[in-house]
Amino acid sequence: MKRRNFIKISALATAGFSVLGSINPFKAKAETLVDAAGFTLPKLPYSYGALEPFVDELTMTIHHSKHHAAYVTNLNKALETVVGKHSDLEQILANVSTFNSAVRNNAGGHYNHSFFWKLMTPKGSEMGALVNKALSDSFGSVEQFKAEFRKTALTVFGSGWAWVVQGEDGKLKLGTTPNQDNPLMDVCALKGKPVLALDVWEHAYYLKHQNKRADYIDGWWQIVNWKQVEENLNKA
Ligand code: MN
Repeated sequence: MKRRNFIKISALATAGFSVLGSINPFKAKAETLVDAAGFTLPKLPYSYGALEPFVDELTMTIHHSKHHAAYVTNLNKALETVVGKHSDLEQILANVSTFNSAVRNNAGGHYNHSFFWKLMTPKGSEMGALVNKALSDSFGSVEQFKAEFRKTALTVFGSGWAWVVQGEDGKLKLGTTPNQDNPLMDVCALKGKPVLALDVWEHAYYLKHQNKRADYIDGWWQIVNWKQVEENLNKA
């Protein structure tokens, strides 16, 4: 190797090391196992304005095309610094403690939003008997479930999510996660199969409801896709 090239490469390597700390891009590139994960932003099953007036068009536009898109881009970028090919999102979540925090935040963000979009539908959908029974069995009644879910979603301090998960005993339970954590993560205290989730980050409602998270939650019931909830229950 010519001396000039050697100096150039050494300087680049040093720069990479100091900027990224323990993540050394040169080491990662030397591994033949490294491959692009190639996660992509899923299309919404409805238009940005379709959930009006409960979730407004501008919020949906920014939420999907900016926030969710950034989680996808940053997840792919974060995985480039990790050895091995990781293209199974649920596998990543199940072992998220072995990844860095960029993977944790962005894999969570990608999963949570992909899950969340499908839980909404323009004008909502009728709740079927199976969901009604599951909610009644676990919470007493659908009305009681809604009241408890509302309380749970209001208790999330800062950014996070409210969840309904199904435990191994088949029972449904409520819980919350901070940031973009979710119940599929090995680091998460709340365990179970996700059935329903509500994004209570301010970016999900602030343009329309400002500080009134309760109004966002109360309106949200009008656009819940109970058919999807039933599908999640059957899967769980
Ligand atoms: Mn969000």
